[in-house]
Amino acid sequence: MRVLEILEKRGAILHGHFLLASGKHSDVYVQCQRAFVYPEDTAFIAKELIGKAQEQCDIKNIAGVVSPALGAVIIGYEVARQLDKPFLFAEREDGKLTFRRGFEIQQNGHYLTVEDVFTTGGSTLELINLVENMGGLVDYALAVVQRQKEIALPVPHDSLIFLDLPLYEPENCPLCKAGIPLVKPGTKQQQKTSS
Ligand SMILES: [Zn+2]
Repeated sequence: MRVLEILEKRGAILHGHFLLASGKHSDVYVQCQRAFVYPEDTAFIAKELIGKAQEQCDIKNIAGVVSPALGAVIIGYEVARQLDKPFLFAEREDGKLTFRRGFEIQQNGHYLTVEDVFTTGGSTLELINLVENMGGLVDYALAVVQRQKEIALPVPHDSLIFLDLPLYEPENCPLCKAGIPLVKPGTKQQQKTSS
């Protein structure tokens, strides 16, 4: 449980009332970047992720590591650095993940994907499709934290920490009903809910 201790120590697990990117509300928000501020912690977390990958795939055959920008770039890079493999990140352009900057996927190359948090796994799913559309293969998908029990990915996947956290639709969120101010993480603004 050392990774969970690091995340808690660095304030990466926040308690309150949060508006998530999916539009749902939650009483916990995971901000892994708070831990990635510290290179030593990032290196430790990456090493743990590599341990998971080594149980599942042949690291020698891995062509590279890919992550979606921006939240997973630091941890993805650190995993690649420790494996001595190339690292690529995909960015959103008009809402769609794409490789810019002349990044290329090796044809029939085997890749690992690294995310900071799986909520629904949506970004990783999009990344897997992107890599495969460009002629690569994804052997394994990793995340530091998984927020939900069920995530649907077409490749084997795992995370270091599993938090089975309830997500609420705004219209039946108990935190809204209790009048707790809603916070959109990443902004300084706090919105008062009116429901
Ligand atoms: Zn709410």
